[in-house]
Amino acid sequence: MTGVQSNIYETDVAVIGAGPVGLFAVFELGMLKLRCHVIDALGEPGGQCAALYPEKPIYDIPGFTSINGEDLIKNLVNQAAPFAPTYHLGQQVVALQKTGEYFQLTSDKATTIRARAIIIAAGCGAFGPNRPPLAGIEAYEGTTVHYMVTRREQFAGKTLAIAGGGDSAVDWANALGETAKKIYVIHRRDKFRAMPESVARMKSLEAAGKIEMVVPYQLDALEGEGAQLRAVTVATLDGQKRRLEADHLLAFFGLSMDLGPIANWGLNLHLNHITTHPTTAETNTPGIFAIGDIATYEHKLKLILCGFSEAAFAAHAIYKIIHPGQALHFEYSTSKGVPGAAA
Ligand code: FAD
Repeated sequence: MTGVQSNIYETDVAVIGAGPVGLFAVFELGMLKLRCHVIDALGEPGGQCAALYPEKPIYDIPGFTSINGEDLIKNLVNQAAPFAPTYHLGQQVVALQKTGEYFQLTSDKATTIRARAIIIAAGCGAFGPNRPPLAGIEAYEGTTVHYMVTRREQFAGKTLAIAGGGDSAVDWANALGETAKKIYVIHRRDKFRAMPESVARMKSLEAAGKIEMVVPYQLDALEGEGAQLRAVTVATLDGQKRRLEADHLLAFFGLSMDLGPIANWGLNLHLNHITTHPTTAETNTPGIFAIGDIATYEHKLKLILCGFSEAAFAAHAIYKIIHPGQALHFEYSTSKGVPGAAA
C-alpha cells in the first residue's frame, strides 16, 4: 500500500469503504486507468469479510468452490495492487462537499481528498456494534473489550469471555479455541443461531476442555483496572450470579445499521440504503455512486458478487465523467491485460 505524506490529496475517484466491493472497485477503476484513494474506518481492508467472518467459507464467489473471508480479501487487495491505490485506513469520512468540479471529502483524522467522482461502498455504514449496556464499558473498549476481531494474535494464551449466540460468537469461539488459554461462551439460552456444523465444532472444543459454556447467563458487570479487564460477572434471569476471570471480553450482539454522516449528504435513501440506478450505480447526485450492501434498487441482492458487478458499472459510468466526450472502447481483460498504475 502506498505511504501517505501530506494530508490533502487530489485524485480521480475517492472510494469510501475498503470492504470486498470497494476493493474490487479499485480494480475496475484501474482497468480504465482511473486513479483512486480508498478510505476506511477500520484499521485493515476487508469490511465485513475481514471483521466479522474471516474464517468462514464463502461458497458463492464465482470461480471458487469455497474461499474464506480472509483469503478473499487478500486476493482482492493483490488484484488491486497493480493500480497502486492509496489507502487511508482507521479514518472515518465525516464530510463531503462539492467545490467546482471536485468533490471534497474529509475524514475524522483531517485527511482531505479532492476527487472528480465518489464511490460509496460503505456496507452498513460506519460499523456500529450493538454494545451491551454495562456500566463503565467504554474504559475497556478497543483494549480488552472488543466488538470485532482485527488482530487475533493478541488473544493467544489469554482467557476470553465471548458473549452472544450468533455466527460471530460461535465462529470466533472456534477460531480462537485452539490458541486461547480458555474461552467462556456466554449466552442467554442453550440454542445458538449459528450454522449447525459450527455449533457442533464448538461443542467438540467444549468436550476437549478448551471452551466452557456459560448458559443461560447474560453479561451483568465488568471488573478491572484502567483499560485492563480482570473479570466479567454474568447473571441468570432470576438473579443468580457468577464471576468469570477473563483478560478480554468479545461481545457479538450484531451490528447496528447507521449511515452516520452519509445520511446528511442529500442522497435519496430507502430504509437506510442509498437508492441507485441499477445499471450505472449512480445516486441522485451526479458524480456520486453507491455500490455493495449500502446500495439499493429494485430486486437488489445483498451479495458480494452483485457488488462486484455494480463496481464495474460505476467505473464505466465514472470514465465518462473524467473523460467527457471520449468514447470508451469496451475491451475484455484478456485482450488488454492489466494496464498498471495510471500516472
Ligand atoms: P462491507 O463489507 O460492509 O464494507 C464496508 C466498509 O466501509 C467497512 O469496512 C466500513 O468500515 C467502511 N465504512 C462505512 N462507512 C464509512 C465511513 N463513513 N468512513 C470510512 N469507512 C466507512 N455475502 C455473500 O455474497 N456470500 C456469503 O456467503 C456471505 N456470507 C456472510 C456471512 C456473514 C456472517 C455476514 C455478516 C455477511 C455475509 N455476506 C455474504 C455478506 C457480505 O459480507 C456483504 O455483502 C459484503 O461484505 C458487502 O461488501 P461491501 O464492500 O459493500 O461492504
